[in-house]
Amino acid sequence: MSEMNLQTGVLIVGAGPAGLGVAAALKRAGVQDILVIDAREIGASFRQWPRQMSLLTPSFHSNSFGLTDLNAIDPETSPADFLRTQHPEGRHYADYLQAVAAHHQLPVRTGIRVTSLKKEGDMFIACTENGEVRADYVVWSAGQFFSPREDAFPGAHHAIHSSKVADWSSLIGEDFTVVGGYESGVDAALNLVEAGKSVRLLSRGEPWSSDHPDPSRSLSPRTLDRLRGLLRTKGKASKLELVKNTDVRHIEEGEGWWILRDQDDIPHVSKTRPILANGYHSGLGPVGDLFTHDGNGLPVFSEEADESTCTPGLFYSGPALVHRNALFCFIYKFRARFGVIAYEIATRLGKPEVDQKLIAYLKAGFMNSDLDCCTNCECAIESSDSAPEPSSFTQ
Ligand SMILES: Cc1cc2nc3c(=O)[nH]c(=O)nc-3n(C[C@H](O)[C@H](O)[C@H](O)COP(=O)(O)OP(=O)(O)OC[C@H]3O[C@@H](n4cnc5c(N)ncnc54)[C@H](O)[C@@H]3O)c2cc1C
Repeated sequence: MSEMNLQTGVLIVGAGPAGLGVAAALKRAGVQDILVIDAREIGASFRQWPRQMSLLTPSFHSNSFGLTDLNAIDPETSPADFLRTQHPEGRHYADYLQAVAAHHQLPVRTGIRVTSLKKEGDMFIACTENGEVRADYVVWSAGQFFSPREDAFPGAHHAIHSSKVADWSSLIGEDFTVVGGYESGVDAALNLVEAGKSVRLLSRGEPWSSDHPDPSRSLSPRTLDRLRGLLRTKGKASKLELVKNTDVRHIEEGEGWWILRDQDDIPHVSKTRPILANGYHSGLGPVGDLFTHDGNGLPVFSEEADESTCTPGLFYSGPALVHRNALFCFIYKFRARFGVIAYEIATRLGKPEVDQKLIAYLKAGFMNSDLDCCTNCECAIESSDSAPEPSSFTQ
C-alpha cells in the first residue's frame, strides 16, 4: 500500500467488538469524525477461532424486554436474532460484527497495523506500516487474541498454543496433552475427545470444581454442561483424564515425544506436541508505556472513563479492563463502558445533548458508571448440588 497520512478526531485501533462498540456509541453521541483501523479485518480474532469453538455466553433475543442479548455490541442488535443460534461460532460472530459496522456505517479501514503511538502537544500520532494517523483522541481496542502466552515458562514454545489450531479434528495423533484447565483448555479437550482422541488435561488447580460466582474466574455453566455430558457418555468418559494441581513449568522436546515437568519436577510424557491453553498476555502491546501499572503489573484505568491516568485523551476498551479487582473480560462486561467512554469524548468535543442521545445505552446497561457492579456478585441463594460437579464423575 502506498504511504498514507490521515487525520481524525477519534482514532479507534481494533475492529473487534470493543472498537466497533465504542465507535457505534460515539456516533450515537453525535461524534462523526471517527476512524477505526485494524491490522487485519473486522472480527479478525473470531475468524481465527478453531472451527469447533463457539461463544460460551448465550445469545438470546431479549432486547425488547430491556435485557440486551449478552453478546450484542450495541443496544439495538442481537446476535441471536441475526444468526438464529444461541452459541455463535467465531466466524458467524464475525459476520455479526461486520453487519453492525455496515448498519452504523462505521468508517473502518483494514490492513493497517499500529506499531507505535505517541503524543505531541495535544495531538496523538499513530505510526503504522503505511504512514501516520493523527488524532485528538485515541481508543485502544486491539484485544489480546494475537498475544498468546507462548513464552510463559522454559520450553513453552515447544507446545502449540490453542489459539493457533484451526480445526481440532485435523490434528494428527491419538493421545494429546492439554496444559490449562480453564475455558480454552476444557474446550480443546472436549473437541479432541469428540474427534475420537484421548486427552490428558493438566491443570494448576481444579477449575471444574470451583464455585466462584464470576465466570471470569471459574468455568461457565455452558462448559460445565458440556463436560458433564461427555463424562456421562460411555466410550467418551474414559478418553478424558482430568489431572488437577499440576502446574507445568517446563517442556522438553525429544524425537517424537515431549516431556512436561510440573512444580514437583514430575515428568508427564506426551506422544504428540502438547497443547498450551494458558491464555493471553494482559498487556496493551505498543501502548503499554502510555498507561501506569499497578503492583501486579496490570494497567490502571481511570474510574471515570477508562482513560490512561498518565496520557490524557487515550482510552481503553476491551478485555484487559480491570476495576476494583473485577475483570471485564467478557463482551457483556466491557460493553458496559461503551457509553461511558463515548459520553466522555463527546462531551469534551463539545457535542450537545450527549445525555439524551445516549439514553438507550444507559437503559441497556451499556453506560455503567457504578463500579460496584462486580464487587459483590454472589447469588443470594446458595449453589444447589442437584447438578453434580464434573469431578464427581472422575473419582
Ligand atoms: C477462546 C476464547 C473464547 C472466548 N469466549 C467468549 C465468550 O464466550 N463470550 C465473551 O463475551 N467473550 C469471550 N471471549 C473473549 C472475547 O473474545 C474477547 O474479549 C473479545 O474478542 C475482545 O474484543 P476486542 O475487540 O477487545 O478484541 P479482538 O476481538 O481481538 O479485536 C481486536 C482487533 O484489533 C486488531 N489489532 C490488534 N493489534 C492491532 C494493531 N497493533 N493495530 C491495528 N489493529 C490491531 C486485531 O486484528 C483485531 O481485529 C473469548 C476469548 C477467547 C480467546
